[in-house]
Amino acid sequence: MRRILLLLPTTSYRNAAFLAAGKALDVEIVTCADYCHRLAPSWGLPATLSLPFDRPEVAIKTLLRIFAGADGFARRKLDAVLAVDDAGLELAALLNQHLALPGNQPAAVRRLRDKLAFRELLQTHRFNCPTFVHLPDGENIRPPTLSFPLVVKPRRLSASRGVIRADNDEEFMHAIQRAREIQRRADRDAVDFGLVVEAFIPGREYALEGLLIQGGLRVLALFDKPDPLDGPFFEETLYLTPSRLSPALQQTIAAEVERACRVADITSGPVHAEMRVNQLGVWLLEIAARSIGGQCSDVLKHTLGMSLEELIMRHALGLPLPNFRIEAEPVGASGVMMMPIAKRGIFRGARNVGAALNISGISAIQVTAQINQLLVPLPEGASYLGFIFAHAATTDAVEAALRSAHQALVFDIDTALPVLESLLINDCSDQENGK
Ligand code: ADP
Ligand code: CA
Repeated sequence: MRRILLLLPTTSYRNAAFLAAGKALDVEIVTCADYCHRLAPSWGLPATLSLPFDRPEVAIKTLLRIFAGADGFARRKLDAVLAVDDAGLELAALLNQHLALPGNQPAAVRRLRDKLAFRELLQTHRFNCPTFVHLPDGENIRPPTLSFPLVVKPRRLSASRGVIRADNDEEFMHAIQRAREIQRRADRDAVDFGLVVEAFIPGREYALEGLLIQGGLRVLALFDKPDPLDGPFFEETLYLTPSRLSPALQQTIAAEVERACRVADITSGPVHAEMRVNQLGVWLLEIAARSIGGQCSDVLKHTLGMSLEELIMRHALGLPLPNFRIEAEPVGASGVMMMPIAKRGIFRGARNVGAALNISGISAIQVTAQINQLLVPLPEGASYLGFIFAHAATTDAVEAALRSAHQALVFDIDTALPVLESLLINDCSDQENGK
């Protein structure tokens, strides 16, 4: 039986789908998480397999002890190592390298996770790239090379956390303070990283889901993101495929993504790319060496004929891949709405789910927020109320169904309760010292 190590961030929406794919493929799954090593035993979990994903050079030592050493349980070799989400990517690349398994180079993966390094790469290789600067901690002056509107963002976060538009100096000062605070809480290396400030790119947004096979890009889907994302915060909502863009523009997008992966030295496995398109062309916002976030991969099952996670796992294990040809298959259109958290408060429940489910084209509704959970909207928050899925004959019909279903749903959120922020910070910072 083949054996695969999955790096599962404690809070990822992606875990269940990857575990299910492992079952479908009948592979042995070994998991490792980044939950707190102190809390692990009280949850009935072994502390040894809880690792600080954000300290890959520390975590790799433990992993090598376990997987390259002579422990009984680990003596059989691993056939693949996969990170299911951003957090474990660098560690997975390091372990692949140490175990001589195929995969991307750790340095390449690290660079893509760093928004400043990615902008530098685009600039060097003459992609469309907004004017940008690095704003280290403690620097508060708007860079003279940049004029409003601007976007301020933490250098190494995801899911639009801490990404804030500023239209004037006052907003800029607020934005940098807020983004720094968000980064400081989410990333213990925040002070060393600082922020990226860049020109706002007007235009509509799209996302490409792909699989790199020896440097060649197979486009699995191009998504329209039809809501105008003009800030001040940038919550993801609708993802619709197939895209309504012209075939020529779709090809340009795919070619830009493939070239960016090549110059970034990302050659293997899933890629999720986001871009804006305007009259000047395609502007890459981000390329991540992972698959689409949240539970959105469900929308691809129709076109792939299997789950995206199974496809990724097959690729990692060198198993045969389906011979899918997206354009040729009359499978209709699909889409997902990530339901944003509109206000801060305690979640008390969702109503009208049945009615929303009855709307033609709606295939599933998953409310992922837990009753009595604190809901935190962007830019501080990192989660959604849940996901609505739709499948219909056309992309327009999918969009209409998702919007109607979202309108029909009612979420009860109690805003009256005071919340002690200090109770929400979980300090595992001594983990790498083995304490
Ligand atoms: P994250 O990794 O947190 O998702 P991104 O850089 O992808 O950060 O930015 C999140 C969102 O913010 C983007 O999807 C886009 O809507 C918006 N955004 C980011 N940078 C810009 C920009 N320069 N111009 C316009 N919108 C931007
Ligand atoms: Ca993004």
